[in-house]
Amino acid sequence: MKVETDQKLQQKNIKPTAMRQLVYEVLDHQKKALSLYEIEQQFDDVDRSTIFRTLKTFQDNHLIHSIDDGTGAVKYALCDDDCTCEPEDLHIHFLCTKCGQTHCMKDMPVPQTDLPEGFSFESANFVLKGTCPNCR
Ligand SMILES: [Zn+2]
Ligand SMILES: [Zn+2]
Repeated sequence: MKVETDQKLQQKNIKPTAMRQLVYEVLDHQKKALSLYEIEQQFDDVDRSTIFRTLKTFQDNHLIHSIDDGTGAVKYALCDDDCTCEPEDLHIHFLCTKCGQTHCMKDMPVPQTDLPEGFSFESANFVLKGTCPNCR
């Protein structure tokens, strides 16, 4: 268990339990967005609902964000340290149509648009599709 994991969890006000440490490390290790099913595959004998609750806690504390990339399975990826999941923190995601992997384009913020009067922007789901470097 890495000391760094505890720090990352505590930084987001999440009490580091063994389960939380493990789920964090799976997400940290993969460097791409993972679905609940893919996370579950990393464990031998853990209840899906336990993983789901852990992800919910992570999401409520802005440690991870969820992505609906249109594949039907919600995916999860780690947020930056200073992310509060406000509209200005949102970035574009990229779905590779060959390998099905979804990547965070953290340097590409979601474009801010001038909405007509009376509309207020809260979230956006911006997914680009194409081929990733591994599949070219
Ligand atoms: Zn790919
Ligand atoms: Zn992302």
